Amino acid sequence: MQPGGDAQLVEPDGFLLECPHCRQELRVAKKYAGANVECKLCRGHFHLDPDHPSTRLRGFFAECPHCLEELRAHSRFRLARVACKLCGGRIQFVAAPSRRSPTMSPN
Ligand SMILES: [Zn+2]
Ligand SMILES: [Zn+2]
Repeated sequence: MQPGGDAQLVEPDGFLLECPHCRQELRVAKKYAGANVECKLCRGHFHLDPDHPSTRLRGFFAECPHCLEELRAHSRFRLARVACKLCGGRIQFVAAPSRRSPTMSPN
């Protein structure tokens, strides 16, 4: 028996972070990781890098593969195994591919 064999792998659908300009919480889809984004509240622009230490990442959100409800988790659970609060299903969070693959560059 493999430990964790029953856990579903889940990538974050997006991030919850604090706008560096107005300090309000923003939801940003993961496709904007690495991009310059505009805060819809204060119109401030900033570079979204979830891994940068200056980013005020509060957490992330993802869809539970068991009950299909949206889960919000603190950023420290980004690569953790957890149980869904709603259905108890086991989940293993994995990192979303936030950058282009650096190894696939044809001449
Ligand atoms: Zn803002
Ligand atoms: Zn669930």
